[in-house]
Amino acid sequence: MPVTSKSVLVHCCCAHCAAYTVGHWREQGYEVSALWYNPNIHPYLEHQSRLEAMQSFAREADLPLQVAVGYDMIEYFRRVVGHEDERCRHCFRLRLEKTAEAAYAGGVSAFTTTLLISPHQKHELIGEIGAELAREKGVEFLYADLRKRYSDSRHQTKPMNLYRQQYCGCVYSEWERYAGVK
Ligand code: SF4
Repeated sequence: MPVTSKSVLVHCCCAHCAAYTVGHWREQGYEVSALWYNPNIHPYLEHQSRLEAMQSFAREADLPLQVAVGYDMIEYFRRVVGHEDERCRHCFRLRLEKTAEAAYAGGVSAFTTTLLISPHQKHELIGEIGAELAREKGVEFLYADLRKRYSDSRHQTKPMNLYRQQYCGCVYSEWERYAGVK
């Protein structure tokens, strides 16, 4: 498809990280659309709760949102099992790969992710994987360190009363959160 100038496909991990991020890229002059692809969120009903929150936010923000077909949990585990120490690397790559491919297929000039706003994520690793994928897939990766705006983003979604998750996403992170492991 022909590339639309200054357009970006934003991988969204949740509504609360999307709020500020979407506004940020709109302010930079990008036409913003969003992709939901998070096979790292377990179990399935937790995934559905976060997706529903994202869909409500997208309606409120007038944000075009594509929801990837299928849950792909099996693909997540295929990549991670046996490499648990490096699980976030595989998890970021899986999600950003899909985003870069969807941007390319849809004629969107760039891709990025809401993960860049979270102080709880491996920020440098996300930037590194985004840059690698940009070279591999031929789509620009938009990087911004938005971590200082993490709480602003949460303030923005507060009046919407959306579901808020208590752990990163995968069963490993749920175990770490509730068993106090790490
Ligand atoms: S902790 Fe979060 S980023 Fe890391 S593998 Fe689990 S869901 Fe993915």
